[in-house]
Amino acid sequence: MLKIGCHLSSSRGFLAMGKDAVKIGANTLQFFTRNPRGSKARKIDSEDVASFLRLAREKGIAGIMGHAPYTLNPCSASNKTREFTLMAMTDDVLRMEYLPHSYYTFHPGNHVGQGVETGISLTAAMLNQIMQPGQTTTILLETMSGKGTEIGSTFAELRQIIDRVTRRDRIGVCLDTCHVYDAGYDIVNDLDGVLQDFDRNIGLENLLAIHLNDSSNPLGSRKDRHAAIGKGTIGLEAMVRVINHPRLRERPFFLETPNDLDGYAAEIALLREAFQD
Ligand code: FE
Ligand code: FE
Ligand code: ZN
Repeated sequence: MLKIGCHLSSSRGFLAMGKDAVKIGANTLQFFTRNPRGSKARKIDSEDVASFLRLAREKGIAGIMGHAPYTLNPCSASNKTREFTLMAMTDDVLRMEYLPHSYYTFHPGNHVGQGVETGISLTAAMLNQIMQPGQTTTILLETMSGKGTEIGSTFAELRQIIDRVTRRDRIGVCLDTCHVYDAGYDIVNDLDGVLQDFDRNIGLENLLAIHLNDSSNPLGSRKDRHAAIGKGTIGLEAMVRVINHPRLRERPFFLETPNDLDGYAAEIALLREAFQD
């Protein structure tokens, strides 16, 4: 069965979010661990979490993903920004333990002119500080489009970060289809080739989740603007090949497309229909 969900708001609590997921036919979901632009994290209500976990078990919702806010930058040139990022991500990972064995995805960062090498070593060093001995959460590096000074827009860069992480059992990659396409990986005409490249660099066993987004911009544009499924430059046929690919089909897929709940429900139904059981 296709494991698919979308990005949902947790602002009304976990149980409300779980109910939204059920309503739109999702069996997984993603949420921001704290305000995506600011920094505030809402207090966790353990009763709300318990009700959510009960609902998730009943409805078969699994592979849950927390997403770090966009404002963090583990490889910033500013000590203050890096310290804040360390504090927020460490706290996020602890909070994710309320939902044991989930995923926590983050953007590897912007080197802001310090160079890719420095970016990679700062981000890797921070990951080694964030990871906790008993943690059940797996931290995922997201594949980036390469806009500005983003690191992690090539599989080789992601591999270099992972290589320096000590807790290899709790690190993986979340592949964002819009981002890799904008970074120049042609998943429309050569999905197998792109996945072979991923496998050579990182190992497909480390590709643990997929952000399923169409793109508003052409291959290699380094733009990062998500389009609704089938409404962008990637197109529905290529998306359907992604969800059915033998090396990807077991993974959880998360839509981050411009949609309201009804729009997400329609995309989920469309993709379920196109999934070959
Ligand atoms: Fe992201
Ligand atoms: Fe994404
Ligand atoms: Zn994006």
